[in-house]
Amino acid sequence: MTQHHRITLLPGDGIGPEIMAVAVEVLKVVGQQLDIEFEFQEALIGGAAIDATGEPLPAQTLEMCRNSDAVLLAAIGGYKWDSLPRNLRPETGLLGLRAGLKLFANLRPAIILPQLIDASSLKRDVVEGVDIMVVRELTGGLYFGEPRGIFATETGEKRAVNTMAYSEAEIDRIGKVAFETAQKRGGKLCSVDKSNVLEVSQLWRDRMTQLASNYPDVELSHLYVDNAAMQLVRSPKQFDTIVTGNLFGDILSDAAAMLTGSIGMLPSASLGESKPGVFEPVHGSAPDIAGQDKANPLAQVLSAAMMLRYGLNQKTAADRIEQAVLQVLDQGKRTGDIMSAGMTQLGCRAMGEALIDALQST
Ligand code: NAD
Repeated sequence: MTQHHRITLLPGDGIGPEIMAVAVEVLKVVGQQLDIEFEFQEALIGGAAIDATGEPLPAQTLEMCRNSDAVLLAAIGGYKWDSLPRNLRPETGLLGLRAGLKLFANLRPAIILPQLIDASSLKRDVVEGVDIMVVRELTGGLYFGEPRGIFATETGEKRAVNTMAYSEAEIDRIGKVAFETAQKRGGKLCSVDKSNVLEVSQLWRDRMTQLASNYPDVELSHLYVDNAAMQLVRSPKQFDTIVTGNLFGDILSDAAAMLTGSIGMLPSASLGESKPGVFEPVHGSAPDIAGQDKANPLAQVLSAAMMLRYGLNQKTAADRIEQAVLQVLDQGKRTGDIMSAGMTQLGCRAMGEALIDALQST
């Protein structure tokens, strides 16, 4: 029986439309092969939306996203909109989308592909085989806690305050996503906190320990964030799935991602309690190479694979796309950002065609 999924596409700005076009072609081919029907609807976000409507996240865009099974986003932003006030900046559209869809869990894989191992700044034997998933809480913690602000004291000196706060319910819902993610992967979950200093981390650690009894097939460990940062660089292979709060996750997910050495290869997923999730590359809109057919579309394509795996429960389709990516890399095909001696350099479109060939040959 044909399965049907409605996908909202948000190509955004810069290289967004170029890399999105590749991902859509790839999805269409996989859909034909596996009898999955994708209904694509495109909407405006970021600078493109500002130019057309005056706001970075038009109400119509959010409504279309809410009425779909998953959202595939490319990237937003660019020099043209950098001087606008904060509430009219492209980034505000992205924050509005996350808030509007109540996306509280951010999943960022860091996988070292054997073909790109030399792109890492770490030694081969340290990074070979690394396959980590960082699950970051996205809507609570220090970035959203109250009170916050810059206040004048009695002496006239300014004092700035932010608050790190998590409720049991907030910890439990991100914990559930993390344990379930670990179940789908290597069955190991490391919870990162600072419970030797912070009460909010004590509660975090208590709840994670409590939750573990519901997941006897997942092995839970705990690390302080400073040690976790050190271990990520010293011996990253020890990690399978990591769960942590908003601030620590922001920093650790970037550090973990950079073990792989190539920003054009990194996908991400943001999930809420119900559908739809938002799936997008980690990189930005790369205005410096926009419109030149130089962009690496693989992070976008791998984001589409994450959408299939985590948003639409289409594991076989996700596997097929990931295999196609490995196959083109095995063939020595590279975009400029991951180019190395002896390989063949392709533009964005040609990389897309190579992926389609790889899919059709299996
Ligand atoms: P960026 O990720 O866009 O670019 C950083 C560098 O990496 C550039 O040299 C770029 O050419 C290169 N690069 C990035 N993606 C690439 C790809 N797929 N293929 C080849 N090369 C690639 O970050 P930036 O320059 O700091 O920001 C540019 C704009 O993107 C800004 O407006 C920023 O606000 C926005 N941004 C958006 C997101 C998002 O949409 N989630 C994330 C980060 C930055």
